[in-house]
Amino acid sequence: MSIITTRADEDFRGRSNRRRFFAARCFEGRVCASAFARRIVYFCGARVYNEYKAAGGAGRSKHLPFRRKEEIFMRISGLQKTTLLDFPGRVACTIFLNGCNFRCPFCQNSEILDGRGGEDIPEEELFAFLRKRKGILDGVCVSGGEPLVHAETLELLGKIKALGYGVKLDTNGAFPERLKEAARAGLIDFVAMDIKNSPKNYAKTAGVAVDMAKIEESAKFLMESGIEYEFRTTVVKELHAAEDFIRIGQWLRGAKRYFLQTFRDGDTVLKSGLTPCTDAEMQTFKQLLKPYIPNVLIRGEE
Ligand code: SF4
Repeated sequence: MSIITTRADEDFRGRSNRRRFFAARCFEGRVCASAFARRIVYFCGARVYNEYKAAGGAGRSKHLPFRRKEEIFMRISGLQKTTLLDFPGRVACTIFLNGCNFRCPFCQNSEILDGRGGEDIPEEELFAFLRKRKGILDGVCVSGGEPLVHAETLELLGKIKALGYGVKLDTNGAFPERLKEAARAGLIDFVAMDIKNSPKNYAKTAGVAVDMAKIEESAKFLMESGIEYEFRTTVVKELHAAEDFIRIGQWLRGAKRYFLQTFRDGDTVLKSGLTPCTDAEMQTFKQLLKPYIPNVLIRGEE
């Protein structure tokens, strides 16, 4: 493990929640407050963490000394008890984890992006629910927010798998290392990765500066790994144009499955004033993608 110093850190840099973001980077949900200790949080490696865990994770690690009140840790911010649509071939529930490194203007879950809003469902309550629903449900969709913004999410995925559930992960692709780690550890059965836009317009659509190399790494991994996956784009009139879909097709040529989703406005959407494309425009975008990705669908018409 290396404490994560990805582009995502830069996205939070200079913002009031900077310190909280550092907390999210710490595996044990702890943070160091001093500049010196913060450097340790950055540079302490797998050995430190593993030793700490091997000792039961109890007490205070000298490297990860204490918890501050305002910090953000992985929380279960919502639970949809049943879905027949989100996990192909499975009857599933969906959990929403707090926090995201993107700020897509069309985001429907804006209340949980900074890690604070939404519900606060204790993990024990989730697992009691999952044990009770065994045999009725056979899958769990792990959504957000961006689930992989928290290193602890991998542990959560492992616990869900241990109960015998299939796991579907929704991700924005910004954390390829965690995605690979989860896949290689057999913690995920299906991945739905957002493709926000053509590379040229990615930052505008994600609402933050984006390290495209990371997005491309995640997409490439999914296309080559053999894991079940789909790519998907929420299409917004103000953000997407025909040329974007040609560029996306060229980028993701040969992808297994690609969904276009029509933007829906609502009270929880991050930015007001956005509008959906017409059915005819959606069909045009689909046809532009088809030469590159034959299995392209508009959500709802499959
Ligand atoms: S749409 Fe997804 S990636 Fe974008 S801000 Fe919302 S949760 Fe994050």
